[in-house]
Amino acid sequence: MVRLRWLGHAGFELGIDGKCIVVDPFVSENPSSALKLNDIGHADIVAATHAHFDHWPDALKIAKRDRAPLVCISDHKAAAIDAGVEEVVSVNVGGTVKIKGIDIHCTAALHTGAPCGFVFSGEGGSVYHAGDTGLFGDMALIGEMYRPAVALLPIGGKFTMGPYEAAKAAELIGAKVIVPMHYNTFESIKQSPEEFRRLTCKKAVCEVVIIKEGEALDI
Ligand SMILES: [Zn+2]
Repeated sequence: MVRLRWLGHAGFELGIDGKCIVVDPFVSENPSSALKLNDIGHADIVAATHAHFDHWPDALKIAKRDRAPLVCISDHKAAAIDAGVEEVVSVNVGGTVKIKGIDIHCTAALHTGAPCGFVFSGEGGSVYHAGDTGLFGDMALIGEMYRPAVALLPIGGKFTMGPYEAAKAAELIGAKVIVPMHYNTFESIKQSPEEFRRLTCKKAVCEVVIIKEGEALDI
């Protein structure tokens, strides 16, 4: 079983094998979030998919607060160390690291600023966090190779996939559960998750679960 808790935008707490992995938290400067940093649980591991403002600063804060290792792409390691993070585990696309028993595989993501996605795998299951990305065909390989039970996909459009592209991504990945993210935080990425669900259910055999900010889901 894996536990997901949506922190709004692309932020999640992932519970796998009793470890809490905080990915891309964005609450401090998030205009649409009711959460505060203190509402985010103690992290055993922090992961950041890239260093843009809506993914990175709170990841540094949580890593420092909880003295947790921060996993990020190697281009961002120096910035994390400069910011005072004690332990930075750098990875790059195609590589895997094991931290506290969790395998963390770094996937490609189509975006700017040295981006990536991650597949987090443990005994209890695996979760693919796509990061900020456009659609790409090799998402099918991520599904085939790592068999994530859950895929977290951006649907906001403009800066990432929108619902139309993310529905195709869901088909390619083949995860049983798809959770939309990275939408409605700003006016410019306003989307209907119900429309995403409708488009996805035409293409893929999966369940689209729309989580409210702060809510948790066991899968
Ligand atoms: Zn973003």
